[in-house]
Amino acid sequence: MKAAPFRYHAPRTLDEALGLLADSPNARVLAGGQSLMPMLNMRVVSPDDLIDINGVEGLAYIREEGVEIVIGAMTRQRDLEFSPLIAARLPLMAEAIRYVGHRQTRNRGTIGGSLCQLDPSAELPTVAQACDAVVVARSRRGERRIPIAEFPAGYMTPALEADEVLVELRFTPWTAPHGAAFVEYARRHGDFAVVSAAAMLALGSDGRIERLSLTLGGVGAAPLRMGAIEAALCGQKPSTQSFAAACASAGTIDALEDPHYPRWYRQRLAVALSKRVLAAALGRAGAR
Ligand SMILES: Cc1cc2nc3c(=O)[nH]c(=O)nc-3n(C[C@H](O)[C@H](O)[C@H](O)COP(=O)(O)OP(=O)(O)OC[C@H]3O[C@@H](n4cnc5c(N)ncnc54)[C@H](O)[C@@H]3O)c2cc1C
Repeated sequence: MKAAPFRYHAPRTLDEALGLLADSPNARVLAGGQSLMPMLNMRVVSPDDLIDINGVEGLAYIREEGVEIVIGAMTRQRDLEFSPLIAARLPLMAEAIRYVGHRQTRNRGTIGGSLCQLDPSAELPTVAQACDAVVVARSRRGERRIPIAEFPAGYMTPALEADEVLVELRFTPWTAPHGAAFVEYARRHGDFAVVSAAAMLALGSDGRIERLSLTLGGVGAAPLRMGAIEAALCGQKPSTQSFAAACASAGTIDALEDPHYPRWYRQRLAVALSKRVLAAALGRAGAR
């Protein structure tokens, strides 16, 4: 199929893009196009105006600002993959990015596009949830900072207003030594995950878990932060038994289902991958 007719705009500045967005009641932003182009051609979406932000200066960067790592929305997934700063400060993202599609899609796909597409199985929103990232949105009305927990408004729907552009993501990496791990199950490498799991784990000097973050992708409409498992394990000595006992609750999540993967299958994966990712993070945490 071919896309329905639309007006194409190629703004050179963010102000120009925001003006176009404010003036069109049915517009879409074009970033890497890896999800939007198929959706246009299959007529899943039919915007009147397509606002291509690839020519907008100053939206692609990875930089340190004080204790934060700040990533511009138009940063290509390939640049995350090969960034020494990401490898050093956000090892969870460095591991997860290699599961995002293929080298060819990562060359064009952007971090902002992945967050806005908000596929339940997408790796980057899962990492953002695990890291308590903050999403920065801009419109002609000003700037808004949205905690990642409030960013999903529903299935594949970000909590952005129609006139807003996601401009950057802000991460505050953990400073204490910790282990980070990302695992997923997909039928073939490069496919969207059926279920994925992201974890960060820090040990105290007594060998007990001092801080824990566990997030599951592909199970709920948006990445699920597993607060009950985190609370059950914090302050405990980590062991295969304690991980198994705490992760059993992932088997009762009201998981997504589709003709290929029934609910029970995702629930079992949720339990198995939670235990696996915690063991991997523990193996990398070391004792203080
Ligand atoms: C073969 C193939 C395999 C793939 N496998 C995976 C995978 O395993 N994991 C995965 O996560 N992804 C996968 N993808 C999707 C890919 O990673 C896309 O890059 C991503 O989903 C969207 O990013 P994009 O920059 O291409 O955004 P686009 O396709 O340009 O846009 C996606 C949506 O976000 C909106 N948008 C984009 N940027 C902004 C912004 N800054 N502000 C407001 N709205 C914005 C657009 O309007 C559109 O609605 C795959 C894609 C292909 C083609």
